Amino acid sequence: MTTADETPFDSAEPRHNPLRVLFLDLNSYFASVEQQLEPSLRGKPVAVAPVMADGGCCVAASYEAKAFGVRTGTRVGEAKRLCPGIHIVKTRHRAYVEMHHKIIEAVETCLPVEEVLSIDEMACRLARDERDPAKAVELAHRVKRAIASRVGECLRCSIGLAPNRVLGKLATDMQKPDGLVVIESGELPGRLVHLKLQDFPGIGPRMVQRLRAFAIDTVEDLYARNEEQLERAWGSVLGRYWHRWLRGQETVHRTSRTRSVGHQHVLPPEARNPEAAWGICVRLLHKAAARMRHLGYYAQRLTLVVACGRRRPSTWGPRSEEAESRAWTGAASLEGGKQDTLTLASELRALWEKRPPGDPTFVGVTLHDLLPAASVTLPLFKEEQQRERLSRLIDELDASHGPLTVYTGAMHEARKSAAGGIAFRSVPDLDLPDSVA
Ligand SMILES: [Mg+2]
Repeated sequence: MTTADETPFDSAEPRHNPLRVLFLDLNSYFASVEQQLEPSLRGKPVAVAPVMADGGCCVAASYEAKAFGVRTGTRVGEAKRLCPGIHIVKTRHRAYVEMHHKIIEAVETCLPVEEVLSIDEMACRLARDERDPAKAVELAHRVKRAIASRVGECLRCSIGLAPNRVLGKLATDMQKPDGLVVIESGELPGRLVHLKLQDFPGIGPRMVQRLRAFAIDTVEDLYARNEEQLERAWGSVLGRYWHRWLRGQETVHRTSRTRSVGHQHVLPPEARNPEAAWGICVRLLHKAAARMRHLGYYAQRLTLVVACGRRRPSTWGPRSEEAESRAWTGAASLEGGKQDTLTLASELRALWEKRPPGDPTFVGVTLHDLLPAASVTLPLFKEEQQRERLSRLIDELDASHGPLTVYTGAMHEARKSAAGGIAFRSVPDLDLPDSVA
């Protein structure tokens, strides 16, 4: 699927590519979590290792340790030699995952996370009115402040603002720690020519060898080739995608996967009853629907996840049969695409009625298979048109008078909860050290 400004694959014309992506990369993530949790480690060289023996590998190093040459992959014994007095700390997966979810919650007070790419990396999509560089930079500062105030000041991040994810990721690598780099399409290739090929995400040593065989040794060489030449060099259609990414375009390949907007929430003890949980579901739907309208989309599918287990359902880490068996998902298809909160709320209510009995501990609401407005048949019926107008009016009131100026009755109690919401997404397997390599 593609939208008007997401560069359909058939367009070869150079065009203006706005800032569409806010890419966020936490700096020295595991070491920073340790410094956040243990104040005595702050400002000191710290390395995190799954095995404390000298032969074990460090999976993260604080900036103070990096200054001594300690890196991810450095042996513990070597780290001690390079940096006498270094604090070696044993990895604590649970703490990193918990903090990861708090960070997503903090980011989502500013804008929704579109996709979590690893435990310390995420991509967010900028709405149309957030794409002006000055506004995007302001938003990025807000994200940084939200993480510092809601999670902890040790959790610093580098943010890249760019027309696509590849350039966004590259931008986060250009300034660390606490970076904020904007790459606009009009600055290409100038902003990148000083880089080495292996600085690009996804171009490893073997790919560098391969490109060399095609006489591509520098970034300038890369820009000098056309799509066909890059396809040959890559040996796959990926080369064509690179041609477009380097120019700030997006490809169908990149954008077709993650067209959903959703929120989830672990219920506080006082909300672990059907009435309160339903109110929170409506609140989550309201947020997701408003964001979807803001992005200009219509949903073709709605899902509700309800868990009554002790843990939230997880798609990462050690699987808990018990927790998973208690998570229930209901799905409703929305013929032709729906956008207004009232229609979506009645679909959500129908799903809610089908849930298994029990006191919910966790709820999630997600709008899927989003269609751009241009490809949706506009509602024919008067009532449907009125509902859409009402939803837009609510959005406008929210924008001018603050969130939740207008809300439905069921949300009244839930208004104060789920302020941030939690993204319902997966985090890769946390078996270390493979996932950090
Ligand atoms: Mg990182």
